[in-house]
Amino acid sequence: MIIILKNDASESHVEEVRQILNERQYGINEVRGVEKTIICAIGAPDADKPQVASQLEAIPGVERVMAILKPYKLVSREGHPDKSIIKVRDVEIGGDQLVVMAGPCTVETEEQLMKAAHAVKKAGAHILRGGAYKPSTSPYSFHGHGVEGLKILAKAREETGLPIITEVLDPRHMDEVCEYADMLQIGMRNMSNFQLLREVGRSKKPCMLKRGQAAKIEEWLQAAEYIASEGNFDIVLCERGIRTFETATRNTFDINAIPATQALTHLPIVADPAHGTGMWQFVPPIAKAAVAAGADSLMIEVHPEPWRALKDGGQSLTISDFTRLMQEIEPIAKAVGKHL
Ligand code: PEP
Ligand code: MN
Repeated sequence: MIIILKNDASESHVEEVRQILNERQYGINEVRGVEKTIICAIGAPDADKPQVASQLEAIPGVERVMAILKPYKLVSREGHPDKSIIKVRDVEIGGDQLVVMAGPCTVETEEQLMKAAHAVKKAGAHILRGGAYKPSTSPYSFHGHGVEGLKILAKAREETGLPIITEVLDPRHMDEVCEYADMLQIGMRNMSNFQLLREVGRSKKPCMLKRGQAAKIEEWLQAAEYIASEGNFDIVLCERGIRTFETATRNTFDINAIPATQALTHLPIVADPAHGTGMWQFVPPIAKAAVAAGADSLMIEVHPEPWRALKDGGQSLTISDFTRLMQEIEPIAKAVGKHL
């Protein structure tokens, strides 16, 4: 930790800083410049840092306290320079294969899901998505079929061989979702549900953590750290668009987040251009941009009849549009050293 003192800090303020550091038995290194004094605190355990930093900031002569190490250790690239590969059954996310997850936003009927599942498999998708428990901004919209939806997903896995990813919305649903899912999705609205993150960490199931719509990359990585701190390292991150001042699209897909996040963490990153744009017309171009930017995986919402969808129809691709997208993506994946 580095403590920067104000130009007019008195000797008693500096002494106060020294005392707090001494009490905690940290090493002290003082640098006295012409105008400023800087104190380096050495050996502070990670768990102490937020508390000490805020205590030091309460001293009137202290201008700023800066951490040197990242507040997320386990998921940081600093200590783990090699990228992680996350296995979901036989599918590897983070390697040379561009993994495509596809399927409807929500499991509506068995017929709808089976149609979507067989079609995305035929087009080359690797993982089937579908929500059984659906978060929603409105309490009045459709919230999914719960366990019935999970059973339909399991049936689709049996028929197609595709592993399934589905959202776990509530820590109370962990057991039943884990019974059916191959991969747990933590939705945007739950990125800061720390109790749920801990439960997913304890579950040891591969999981995909979506970025909160107003979360900074650092906060997103700290949320991933919660999961890792419980012993689950099988985490992939999903950029799904953030809230900005722009209203022409549902969200603003943060393309910067792909290379920026990969520079900070060893975890693979998935791009979700459906929620990132909210409009089916924009899903293919943003999906391609994400692959070109180095995304390890794509998540695409596909519905046999988007115009009849109970949720997110306006951002879902038809089967033929999805099939075309898969073909168009292949050369882009190849150009960045990946294959489908
Ligand atoms: C979804 O994947 O359908 C979903 C609800 O996503 P998000 O949490 O990103 O809104
Ligand atoms: Mn959706």
